[in-house]
Amino acid sequence: MPNLRSGWVCRTMPQLNHQPEFDTMAEKIAARKRYIFASDFDHTLSFNDSGYVLSELLGIPTSEYERKATGMAKLNLVQQGGELAYLLLHDPEFRSRVRREHLYEAGKRVRLKPNIDLLYRFLSEDLEGYRFDFYVISAGPVEVLRSALEGIIPPEHIYGTEFEYNDAGEIERILQVTAGYGKVAVIDQLLETLKTGPDRIVYAGDGSSDIHVMLHVNRRDGFTIAVSQNKYLAPIAKRSVIGDSALAILVPILEEVMGWDSVKIRESFEAKGLLIQQWDKVQTDTLTIVPIVAPEEEASAALAE
Ligand SMILES: [Mg+2]
Repeated sequence: MPNLRSGWVCRTMPQLNHQPEFDTMAEKIAARKRYIFASDFDHTLSFNDSGYVLSELLGIPTSEYERKATGMAKLNLVQQGGELAYLLLHDPEFRSRVRREHLYEAGKRVRLKPNIDLLYRFLSEDLEGYRFDFYVISAGPVEVLRSALEGIIPPEHIYGTEFEYNDAGEIERILQVTAGYGKVAVIDQLLETLKTGPDRIVYAGDGSSDIHVMLHVNRRDGFTIAVSQNKYLAPIAKRSVIGDSALAILVPILEEVMGWDSVKIRESFEAKGLLIQQWDKVQTDTLTIVPIVAPEEEASAALAE
């Protein structure tokens, strides 16, 4: 029997040893490396939580919102981050008070991190050979998000929890919850629509609602950034960054995706009139060490109780 393998011919394409030439600007743009940059909203692009802002606006004490939301999180009743959506639909106090216009107003009261506009512009226009389509994916109501980011990020680039309303502006039902695994569904939808590979995703988030999506992005060779020291999230994310400016998120992207060094990063910030005043690279191992208790000591301690 002939050895089929020996008959294989391996053909390779001649390697280009020069930069291809582009005739038009359109061709140049098409040849850029296209990535999706997707970001959480609460505490990643803002300082406060939409749920607290909305509770205050509705005249419900924030302590009451916190009690209900943390109680639900402990029960794992809904996807992590979906607590506000559940309360707006099912909690009599929230449901009876909230109207669609409150969600818009709450968005205007959210305290945004500075320089989100610069982050958007930097990623979508300015990077040598790279282009990032900037999307926001949050468990918060989409009206809150679009209102908070009005004039900064186009509304069609913002995905949040969607409700259906009646003529009086009251919430009738939930159409989509973009919390927990709901964020994975949005990422997959974006990949399909934009015809981009899963290794071309960068995701930034800060909390438990981002765990599913970060595991999903990492597994398919994407890049993940934790914008907090959340004990569940920081070990999953490929990089962590803490900073009061939204531009802090840009630093690990420039380093890890684009391969820029710190000198080039500082220079590019300075060209935009910004100074990186403090840049501490810290790797922190958190340990709790306790003495080993011998079985007999453990037994006598139990008897003494
Ligand atoms: Mg968050």
